Amino acid sequence: MTSAPPPQTPAAITPRRTRLVRVPDLGRFQQAIAVASVGASPFQARRTAVVVPTAGAADVLRHTIEDLCLVERWAPGEADLATLGAHDWPVQPDTATVSVALPQLVTRTGLYGLVGEALADVARIDPIAREVLAGAVAREVAAGGAAPPFVPRPALVAAMLDLYDALRRNRRSIDDFERLVGTALESGAAIDRGAARLLEETRFLAAAFRGYEAALDAAGLVDEHGLRARALALEGASGPLASVVVAVPDVAAASHGLWPADYDLLTRLAGLESLTVVATEATLDAGYLSRLLDTLPDIEIVAFAGSPSSTPRIVRPAARPADAPVLVSRDREEEVTAFARRVRAQSGEAAADAPSHAVALVHQRPLPYLYLARQVLGAYGISWQAVDALPLAAEPWAAAVDLVLTFAASDASRAAGLALLASPLLVPPPRGDAGDAAPPVTAGGIEACDRELADALFVGGRARLAELDARWRDDAGAGRARVQRRRALPVMDALLRAADALEPLATPDSASVQLDRLEAFLIAAERIPVAVRARERHLRARGAVLGLLRRAREAYRRFGDPAIAIDELAPLLRRLMEAQTFSPRVGPGLVHVVDAAAAAFGRFADVTLAGLIESEWPASGGRNVFLPANLLRDLGWPSDADRRAAARAAFDDLLRLPSRTLALSTFTLEDDAIVRPSAYLEDLDALAFEAADVAIDGVPRLALAVTPLPGVGDDRVGPREWPLAAAPAGPADVGPRPPGAYSVTALDRYRQCPFKYFADDVLGLEEDVDEEAGLSARARGTLVHDAFQAFFTEWAARGGGAIDEAALPAARALFTEIAERALLAIPPSERPLERARLIGSAVGAGYGERAFRFEAGRADGLVERLLEVSLDGDYTLGDGETARTVRLRGKADRVDLLSDGTLRVIDYKTGKASAARTSLQVKLYARFAAERLRGRRGVDWSVGESGYLAFGRPDDIYQAAFDAGSRDEALAAAATDALAVVDAVEQGAFPVAPEDLHVCTFCGFAAVCRKDYVGDE
Ligand code: SF4
Repeated sequence: MTSAPPPQTPAAITPRRTRLVRVPDLGRFQQAIAVASVGASPFQARRTAVVVPTAGAADVLRHTIEDLCLVERWAPGEADLATLGAHDWPVQPDTATVSVALPQLVTRTGLYGLVGEALADVARIDPIAREVLAGAVAREVAAGGAAPPFVPRPALVAAMLDLYDALRRNRRSIDDFERLVGTALESGAAIDRGAARLLEETRFLAAAFRGYEAALDAAGLVDEHGLRARALALEGASGPLASVVVAVPDVAAASHGLWPADYDLLTRLAGLESLTVVATEATLDAGYLSRLLDTLPDIEIVAFAGSPSSTPRIVRPAARPADAPVLVSRDREEEVTAFARRVRAQSGEAAADAPSHAVALVHQRPLPYLYLARQVLGAYGISWQAVDALPLAAEPWAAAVDLVLTFAASDASRAAGLALLASPLLVPPPRGDAGDAAPPVTAGGIEACDRELADALFVGGRARLAELDARWRDDAGAGRARVQRRRALPVMDALLRAADALEPLATPDSASVQLDRLEAFLIAAERIPVAVRARERHLRARGAVLGLLRRAREAYRRFGDPAIAIDELAPLLRRLMEAQTFSPRVGPGLVHVVDAAAAAFGRFADVTLAGLIESEWPASGGRNVFLPANLLRDLGWPSDADRRAAARAAFDDLLRLPSRTLALSTFTLEDDAIVRPSAYLEDLDALAFEAADVAIDGVPRLALAVTPLPGVGDDRVGPREWPLAAAPAGPADVGPRPPGAYSVTALDRYRQCPFKYFADDVLGLEEDVDEEAGLSARARGTLVHDAFQAFFTEWAARGGGAIDEAALPAARALFTEIAERALLAIPPSERPLERARLIGSAVGAGYGERAFRFEAGRADGLVERLLEVSLDGDYTLGDGETARTVRLRGKADRVDLLSDGTLRVIDYKTGKASAARTSLQVKLYARFAAERLRGRRGVDWSVGESGYLAFGRPDDIYQAAFDAGSRDEALAAAATDALAVVDAVEQGAFPVAPEDLHVCTFCGFAAVCRKDYVGDE
């Protein structure tokens, strides 16, 4: 392919000074920007724009200039002032500086905003309208014959506009694009299907770009490129700006940098008297200097001496002096926690007001660091600030809108629906008139509904949801529904209300009407937070979201209103919420949580470069989705090598940013996947730094990291009551708790692992349940219990007694009948397997047969069989002085009263009941049953035996809890052990201490307990 000649740079038409200020480090980078922007005069400063990478960087730079001039009263050298034409530096030795006129601190987009403000008669197109217009044109071009090999969906329309913008910013025309790419592809298209497809795509894109330009023109609007053309057409000596200081590199070095067309604008804009580019030696040497000289060949290069700052010392773990000075944490949360401890150890809050003692946590991506800062720094009582621009999508209300979009597009899926109901910001509006009050939705109800729907194998579908709802209500009306299902009913009602209200969105209709419907639902379902700060935040995000919806609606009305369904509209709305940024300012405070681009503009004593992992340092660059890199290179696209070299230079600059200490921090796990440390850490200039040894080992680790549970109105203790701060003194040692009523199975849970009890029974956290194929273990357990319960009730009603060999055929027949009835409650697809389990098959006996054979084999004179025996009550546990009364809860599946005056407690298990000997459950049940049944039929029943019918065992299904010879000892020990557990619970001791690591394998709380610490204790 023939490379196109580089675009010509026209000569500047206004006499101006164009210079490059080379600086050795970031401290002097900031000083040079200050001198160049506020040093000439207050009037000049107001007509000066400083171009910075982000809005956050602008905020940080503003503080830096104010600190230099008003707090530190820094005085630049005469030579530097003269070099940069700063004849009126605001700090004078004998006069107190009380104010400083700040320049306009803007991003590249902000620079165009300033230019646009000066061109008041130019109508600029709204960015949302631009996407809608481009989408309409793309569809029209596709329908007109130049069909693309892809469907022009919203995300691809946005990518098309990115490509168009990049072409124009690289000062290339659509003809250039078609000619250069087309020529490269044409020769191969006849023999290579890939090339043919790319050629087809290129032709479509060129036609769409031309169509877009014509449509924009016809609408009388301009975009950035039209604005630039209008600005360059301005004549005369006055213009919007007198001076511009460029503090970003070019786009080849950073995505927020300037493009060739921007430099062209700045060299030709009427009235601009000075253009000053400020850059560090490292960035210039990484390729920026040679590119700049290509773009601005006449640029004057000047040096800036400034005032050097001290070299930081590097934080090194005191216990491992031989290791590289890198702090390694398990994950980001632990990384921020370690940072918080260092801050507490190094500085203390006393320094919070001194800018020279500011501490920075520097990251490459604001999320999740901003969330972690709120959680962890808050727990450690450290004041902090942040000015990051986050996507609107990260706001809770935008997240709630996303849930609505997902649910509406999913045909009432279970996961999406329950997530919607769990949002504290949404309640599906009641049906009909306002008076139609809806039952409240609680977190417990959502959990119950989730389990019930999972057991019913419900994945989605409005019709099936309605069918289940009707069936469950019938069952409840007839008194057949179990407790969990009754709790689920209000949630089912809310799910159906949401599904009904959003159903019209699933059918194509004009986009503006769909947006109206969506807005109406959001307004009707919205729950505005009550707390003042949350409310303010919500209202800001609400205004932004509604603004987006309304702008999109207007754009559709103006530029075509295609019929679309929510699955096509949702991606556009998500993109808009991602693209719009929001600055949740926090502060002021000692710690600045700041991104790497903004940190370069700040003055900090201690800096921690956080999240030093492979995919973030350097950040991976965006790819063009339409064309391969070799074709783009001829159109002036930056190369990966340039980007990487510039990123490394920026990192090296950051190493020398702090005046006191530098910490390099990485971690090893992200979402349970192992991540690699940044390659920068293998080759560190910082190794030459003097070490600041910090004792960071041996600090007690946090045992619990919980995120707030969604849902409202539940009476359980929520995790908000147990922030991270509760744990540093020791794993989940939460202080004394008042006595309560204890479930016997929960006492066994404590003995398995006290932390498991804490997560389940104190915090009420929802267990992580693996999605299983087929019926869940819990659902199968319910089915088996229900079947045996119904069988023995019916057997007794028909006059049946003990099941001996003679009664086996009748028992089998009745159990088959009962089991078939029970099987109707589960999905049809699961019935064959569960039928085989219950009733048996050609290859094995069923649960019923095995249970009856066990009973027939005993021949021990059954007097009465009691089912589902409630044993709730007050019992005395312990011996002698330690004995006390404890309220306990439990229900025995079955208690058999036998002719010898003994009783036998039976519990059904679908598993193997391997812990039958160690478990407290059936031993305590047996003891309590003997107390409760004393005098029944005139007998003082004593405990005979107690155990499990464990159907998961292939051979002997009966697992006894004790032998006859050790019965009394086992029952006494169970009571003593139970009291010990109750004591520990009431003392608030919940260590991470599984009785066996095997327990962790099936534990649903592994995500919150940090089980990898097990064994450290
Ligand atoms: S995963 Fe293990 S250590 Fe953690 S709560 Fe469960 S049983 Fe305890």
